[in-house]
Amino acid sequence: MQIVKNIDELELFLQERKGLSLGFVPTMGALHSGHISLVDKSTKENDLTIISIFVNPSQFNNSADLQKYPRTLEADLDLLKQTRCDAVFVPDVATVYPVDYKGTPLSLGLLEEVMEGKYRPGHFAGVMEVVERFFRIIQPNKAYFGRKDFQQVAVIRFMTKQLNLPIEIVECPTMREESGLAMSSRNMRLGNREKKEAALLYQSLIRAKELSTNHTPSQVVDLVVENFSESKMNLEYFDIVHPETLESLTYQWTEGATACIVAYCGEVRLIDNLELIPFS
Ligand code: AMP
Repeated sequence: MQIVKNIDELELFLQERKGLSLGFVPTMGALHSGHISLVDKSTKENDLTIISIFVNPSQFNNSADLQKYPRTLEADLDLLKQTRCDAVFVPDVATVYPVDYKGTPLSLGLLEEVMEGKYRPGHFAGVMEVVERFFRIIQPNKAYFGRKDFQQVAVIRFMTKQLNLPIEIVECPTMREESGLAMSSRNMRLGNREKKEAALLYQSLIRAKELSTNHTPSQVVDLVVENFSESKMNLEYFDIVHPETLESLTYQWTEGATACIVAYCGEVRLIDNLELIPFS
């Protein structure tokens, strides 16, 4: 596994392997089994796999969150050595964003007005900026993203289509702890008691799925929000949305209807989602 720090090294690495199919897994590090599942899928589906580890400042709308974001490069590399990953791209900020760099500004419409877009203004502009940059330098055939960041997958699909990039976006299932808590780099900041509390996010999603059989989406939202208010965690939003447009559902269910939840456990912001109505 090669560790690549700058664009010249990356271009040389790619040039020497021209013609091979290439899978790309963008991450911010502090790797766990969720990230590794993306790498494993990529190594199964492509001749070559590159993972990037880069904590992208432009997607953080809260500087304390950026500062506290876990950085565990040595442990990440140890984990990756146990996979069939071919290269790890670990650029610094100046490499990713040279002074003259400009991404393509895209308007996301509703995609950036709801949920993560609403509560983290500027977040998706930052995500698009970094992913566009990586897509253009690396030019993968396929790029792998976790379903855990459900809205992010929708944004990346939209961006790839708008920019006409010949890259297949592959969505991978959410990996969970035994308690159901979605694996996340941020879980490292939770104590044992908080981790137990945090299982309520997934429990709320499961409850929503059960309730969906005999309640409208609005009723499900009300019941879940009411139940959540009894916990110590702070609910930021719980919404049931259309899987593509992300419009809130109120009275009518639709195939792929997805419940999305974000809550603060202490200072740690946790995100999760679950498809409530399967596609037939
Ligand atoms: P991050 O390092 O948080 O930016 O995540 C990098 C990629 O890993 C994103 O596509 C995430 O959606 C994905 N990811 C994070 N956690 C999980 C998980 N528990 N299961 C599957 N994919 C995940």
